[in-house]
Amino acid sequence: MLPIHPQPQHDEILSSWMVRLAFSNGFPLHTFYACLLGYRGAIWNRDVDRHPPLTLLEILSRHTGQSTDNLKALSLAAYEGVLFENLTHLGNGAWILPVGVFHRTRRRAGLQFCPRCLLSDSIPYYRKSWRLALYAMCERHLCVMQEHCPNCKATAAFYRHGIGRGKEIPPFALRLCHKCGFDLSQAPSFIPDWPDIRSLRNFKKIIGRFEVGHWPYGLNTSIFGIPYFQGIRTLVSVINGRNGLRLRQSLSRAIGADIGINRSRPGLDFECLTSEERLNLLLTVTWLMEDWPSRFVTICAESNFSRSRLAEEVSALPFWLSRVADEFLDNRSLQTTNQEIISAATYLTSSHQEISPQVLSGLMGLSRDSAKAAYKWWKMNRS
Ligand SMILES: [Zn+2]
Ligand SMILES: [Zn+2]
Repeated sequence: MLPIHPQPQHDEILSSWMVRLAFSNGFPLHTFYACLLGYRGAIWNRDVDRHPPLTLLEILSRHTGQSTDNLKALSLAAYEGVLFENLTHLGNGAWILPVGVFHRTRRRAGLQFCPRCLLSDSIPYYRKSWRLALYAMCERHLCVMQEHCPNCKATAAFYRHGIGRGKEIPPFALRLCHKCGFDLSQAPSFIPDWPDIRSLRNFKKIIGRFEVGHWPYGLNTSIFGIPYFQGIRTLVSVINGRNGLRLRQSLSRAIGADIGINRSRPGLDFECLTSEERLNLLLTVTWLMEDWPSRFVTICAESNFSRSRLAEEVSALPFWLSRVADEFLDNRSLQTTNQEIISAATYLTSSHQEISPQVLSGLMGLSRDSAKAAYKWWKMNRS
């Protein structure tokens, strides 16, 4: 066991704790992990918070007394079953800010920070939720999350303090920019410029409670996290998409805020946008969700946005969204796609409800015959 092994702090992300562990024992990262603990694999030029190697977790567990399960819970795997089903190994994952590992260097921060949180920490550390594209605003301080040092524009790569020979590690290192030493807790923070207080308040609720699965819009959407967030991501992508200009114009007019009418690169993945752009889109969708689905239907009608346009952006719509699209945005006869049946069945299983034609009919708004056909299809294909 190591002489000093700090406890992970509330919502702390694995890499932050790992860096604090090395620093509190007085070592730079390479000496600590390769020479002292004997872990030979690469750590800092890969995304250790996304898929920490099991051998690394076992070594950490042996030296600190933390169980490997506890350590895994500090990684982004903690959001499996909450925001998405599985964290994929390849490509960008939904809701996860990409670090863009390319030729063993990181091209993107992948991590935001709240200057006021860093300032109020007695021991500065980085939070797991700061890796989420959803978390574009600090829930505590209600300010827009920051992604760069205001002085030199470097990303918040706090682990770089511990890389390089003979480099002295300053106290409170995690608060400082690794490149120019600027104190990130002194970075300017600003409250979003958003005219609708209600959607701001509701968005704060969503980011404050998403891990416990409590939604202010349960009745008309999905009370279960995965299909709920799948739908939110569909909506932000559609509004931000190449075909979304008229939607953005109608929404900007209705809300009284510019939500990116003149965006230079529409269609960029949501996770690749700046925190300010993401926050504007998320607040827009939160505004749309109030009085669901009438605001959405009105805006789509105004912008000539049809069901096929919506489906163009995504391969699968969650059932609560496809139901609205079928009912209000489509002139074709009501048709249920297999993917919608799977989404509904997954939702029922996860919320421990039985699956029957009656339940499917109520949930998906199907006629008795269509519900029977859907149920039959599900039974045949459920494996
Ligand atoms: Zn904060
Ligand atoms: Zn800097």
